[in-house]
Amino acid sequence: MRRRILTGMRPTGALHLGHYAGALENWVRLQDEYECFFLIADYQALGDHIDDIPRIRRSVVEVTLDWLAVRLDPEKSSFVVQSYVPEHAELALLLGTLVSLPRLQRNPTLKGEMGQFKAQEVTVTFFTYPVSQAADILLPKAHLVPVGEDQLPHIELTREVAGRFNRSYGEVFPIPEALVGRVPRLVGIDGQAKMSKSLDNAIYLSDPEEVVTEKVRRMYTDPTRIHPTDPGHVEGNPVFMYLDAFDPHADEVSELKERYRKGTVGDVEVKRILAQRLNELLEPIRERRRSYEQHPDLVREALLEGTKRHKAIAEETMREVRDGLHISQYV
Ligand code: ATP
Ligand code: MG
Repeated sequence: MRRRILTGMRPTGALHLGHYAGALENWVRLQDEYECFFLIADYQALGDHIDDIPRIRRSVVEVTLDWLAVRLDPEKSSFVVQSYVPEHAELALLLGTLVSLPRLQRNPTLKGEMGQFKAQEVTVTFFTYPVSQAADILLPKAHLVPVGEDQLPHIELTREVAGRFNRSYGEVFPIPEALVGRVPRLVGIDGQAKMSKSLDNAIYLSDPEEVVTEKVRRMYTDPTRIHPTDPGHVEGNPVFMYLDAFDPHADEVSELKERYRKGTVGDVEVKRILAQRLNELLEPIRERRRSYEQHPDLVREALLEGTKRHKAIAEETMREVRDGLHISQYV
């Protein structure tokens, strides 16, 4: 039996270069080696988007189109809609009994994300999403979870919860490992620490060529450099971080860095090259996406078939969980 992967995305918008380099590249590569479950985490997205359900509905389709466009293959792997499998909610509720309030409050990723809201806007569902994510991973008994670096505290929690369950109620869950992508955390075009749908600082996989070029033109760069002949800083400069991440020609990048440091190449020229390389990467993805946009039946089928396969496994795991806890058979 192949080992399993569970990982996923929130349907809060289309996918961007951070998702690509942080997660999707690994997902595509691992499809043959592992039995993969790719989750569209709509329950989780509702935790901070209950006032914008139309956005979640649209994004379920957007995310699926992006997945197909980067060559996730619904014949090899299962695409799963979380809320079509309510076992996710049941397991989340039960695992929540094994996590203390202070344990959750210490989670650095959660703390950072909650900081973006006013306290009265943080819902209980949002606050407990790391527990729900533990349930997502454990429900199909995943061994590996390929994710961006921001997710590591959640995987750590998942490992603790699985161990605690196994010791007290019987060996049900493998202890999953995290696998971080080639670029653990891609910065935003505004220089913020993380490119994110929620921060409006992303280059989307579906952005047309001229939008990519314009976003690169506006990109944050070395703020100390006023004239193109000033010596520039490469370290910490998002334009060079993107070149490192996405320009396949290593010599071109090192030559540009050298000239930038000496002040013999301007930002305009470096950005022109970056935009060109990004568009070369994205063009085949955009083209496949356009063709899937013409076939909504394929999107629907991918989601329904994958969800059906996953549901059967989820039901089996929940039987083991309920038996282990000795619930559901009181009389
Ligand atoms: P939101 O702002 O709604 O949380 P998001 O952009 O953070 O959206 P998620 O759906 O939360 O996207 O994350 C999906 C996966 O993509 C996770 O594994 C996450 O670690 C990874 N990821 C997201 N943004 C980045 C990034 N900038 N760099 C690397 N990986 C990323
Ligand atoms: Mg996120």
